[in-house]
Amino acid sequence: MVAGKPICILTWAGSEPALKSVMLNSHIDVVPVSESNWDHDPFGAVKLPNGDIVARGAQDMKCVGIGYLEAIRVLKAKGVVPKRTVHAVFVPDEEIGGADGMEKWVETDDFRSLNVAFALDEGLSNEENAYKVYYGERAPWWIKITAKGGAGHGSKFIEPSATERLVRTLDKFVAFRNSEKQRLAVCRNEFGRPLRLGDVTTTNITLMNAGVQFNVVPEEAWAGVDMRVAPSVNLTTFREQVVQWGAEEGTTIEFVQAFMSNAATPLNDGNLWWQKIRSVAEQRGVELDPEIFPAATDSRFLRKIGLPAIGISCIRNTPVLLHDHNEYLNEKLLIEGVEFYAQLIPELASVPATADA
Ligand SMILES: [Zn+2]
Repeated sequence: MVAGKPICILTWAGSEPALKSVMLNSHIDVVPVSESNWDHDPFGAVKLPNGDIVARGAQDMKCVGIGYLEAIRVLKAKGVVPKRTVHAVFVPDEEIGGADGMEKWVETDDFRSLNVAFALDEGLSNEENAYKVYYGERAPWWIKITAKGGAGHGSKFIEPSATERLVRTLDKFVAFRNSEKQRLAVCRNEFGRPLRLGDVTTTNITLMNAGVQFNVVPEEAWAGVDMRVAPSVNLTTFREQVVQWGAEEGTTIEFVQAFMSNAATPLNDGNLWWQKIRSVAEQRGVELDPEIFPAATDSRFLRKIGLPAIGISCIRNTPVLLHDHNEYLNEKLLIEGVEFYAQLIPELASVPATADA
């Protein structure tokens, strides 16, 4: 763990401590606010007459962390004892990439001592009447492309041209971008539903830099690209492909960040954790809508070390306002989440040992 960035673990001991544990994960940090764009104090948790609670973190993901704790309080009051030990875990820094939070922590003996078999984590709110269920994420890559060439007066044919080399390399990224955009528009996934953002790889040129003056040919040009690589892609092969795009045009490719895991938690009949989630949702008459998370959460570090992790926030019929102004959650959904977890946690804690890898 990193100094000044504590991780809080609340442990509810199970009746069969030899079994591996269930981890209920939530991050304690939030993204900043631009206060002038909010109708209420973003950290005041103001409740409006219709029950909407306006607060930074209302959707992302304080409702989930509070939901775990309230559910455990309700269950303890009823005298329930889980079979597996349950850890409610509160981690820092998720919003800035998790490097000093979950990423380092999963590599420690402290984490290993929890003996985790499965983790529940955050999801996203949904405008439709279903809970989104996240079973995988795309791998975030930041790529710097640098081109070098000759320098000189803007009136001549200076060869080789750094900017042309860069443009030709970027053309390959753009062509790939267009093919994925096309795939998103027309293709369907294995369940027959149209592809969503999380199913394809996005590419965006986010930084460009070259030159100092109109009549001076620059000897160097560089660009930054943000890619989110879909779980269906072989990361090693694709990384070689990207390096090749640069090599073909004489540019260098530097991976400023390349997360080399896009492991997903398959939602199949053999996944007993998923079966429990599905049956609790069914009993409660709630529809589930599984998909790949379009951005990134701490679950990627758990899946990378081979743990199954599923992200759910019990937020339906609500606009997606995480990181946005006037983030809110209706109190009915907060309570619905508590009830959902109160039903789900003992079920997860009774998954048989055969589920443990
Ligand atoms: Zn979050």
